[in-house]
Amino acid sequence: AVSATDLHRSFDGREVLAGIDLTLRQGEFLALLGRSGSGKSTLLRAMAGLDPEFTGRLLVPERRSVVFQDHRLQPWKRVLDNVVLGLPRAGARAAGLTALEEVGLTDHARAWPVTLSGGEAQRAALARALVRDPQLLLLDEPFGALDALTRLRMHGLLRELCARHRPAVLLVTHDVDEAIALADRIIVLTDGRLGRPHQAVRGSAELRTELLAELG
Ligand code: ATP
Ligand code: MG
Repeated sequence: AVSATDLHRSFDGREVLAGIDLTLRQGEFLALLGRSGSGKSTLLRAMAGLDPEFTGRLLVPERRSVVFQDHRLQPWKRVLDNVVLGLPRAGARAAGLTALEEVGLTDHARAWPVTLSGGEAQRAALARALVRDPQLLLLDEPFGALDALTRLRMHGLLRELCARHRPAVLLVTHDVDEAIALADRIIVLTDGRLGRPHQAVRGSAELRTELLAELG
């Protein structure tokens, strides 16, 4: 459903993506690990269509949604209006309310984003993504700014939502445990290249050690 072939991206002559080959099946959850500055967000932005400057071949579905580390809700629009922003009017409110219900934010539909907690804001951002029924969901450190307990709750919610909607998911994270908890496959990005994929095994101490070693 999703494929990248020989993707390259340079900034000022410095190659950050040095030939990326990647495929994702519909419904598959892939975690991309890498150190800070390794190019994870650069790859995600290319796949999101937010970067016209890469070279290579990219096959991505039309319906794709991105959730960033910061929720990027518009402060002057209420939560529900943020969730349905840009959707055709007919049926949008009902669909938005359903999405808010799915993430447990029904009571905050009319709230202003600034009144939401960090976890609530990220749930609103997830609702905004889901209401678009994405075939590809791109997540760039979506829980990075949350406390440990909230992050765990969000993992549970994300697993539920993905099981129900079955998008292909690319999760960018530098948290090995998050990758193991959520993904089907895990890949490490180092020096602009992808390592060999790992099959994720929940709770595997061995995989954890391997991934930490690969991250260096
Ligand atoms: P982090 O985990 O800290 O978010 P990352 O793996 O997402 O890191 P990227 O944001 O993809 O890293 O950045 C990779 C490299 O590309 C960095 O060295 C960064 O400085 C550089 N880079 C990214 N975007 C630009 C840009 N617009 N202009 C110049 N350099 C950039
Ligand atoms: Mg990044």
